[in-house]
Amino acid sequence: MSIDKEMQDAFNEQINAEFYSAYLYMSMSSWFEDQNLSGFSNWMRCQYLEETMHGMKMYNFVNERGGRIELKAIAGPETDWESAEAVFQQVAEHEAHVTKLINKLVGISRKLNDYASESFLMWFVDEQVEEEDTADDMLTRLRMIKGDNNALYTMDTELKGRAAAPAALPTILGKPVA
Ligand code: MG
Repeated sequence: MSIDKEMQDAFNEQINAEFYSAYLYMSMSSWFEDQNLSGFSNWMRCQYLEETMHGMKMYNFVNERGGRIELKAIAGPETDWESAEAVFQQVAEHEAHVTKLINKLVGISRKLNDYASESFLMWFVDEQVEEEDTADDMLTRLRMIKGDNNALYTMDTELKGRAAAPAALPTILGKPVA
């Protein structure tokens, strides 16, 4: 049985939201690049790749379920922020918003008795706990070091070490790791 049209449409909306997230984080990456904070910029590139992976994970799922992908226009993200703290304030708010969107999808899957979608979406429910926790952690750290450029530089150096999740590329290529 192929996926219900209502569920399919909700996934298509969410794929757009995930790609918007990717676009937003790439915009933030370019802002950090401009500030010569290449560690933060690297962190945001990894985030961009993760969000692209989220979108493609859903894309693969809709295809597996016999649904039809309909890609929509991606809104233009902001391009300028006042500070690194302001960037992560927005990240924290954005991820809290995405959690609400994911929860809405779970609600639709339950209403339709679509257990396959519900099960699939639990990965995203767990992922959002992590995303929100990470964003809050970064924001807290930036609030603590407020105005201290030495501490900001140390944090930037640390963030150079972040690497993208190993599952990102196979998922994007449609070959998820088992
Ligand atoms: Mg996401």
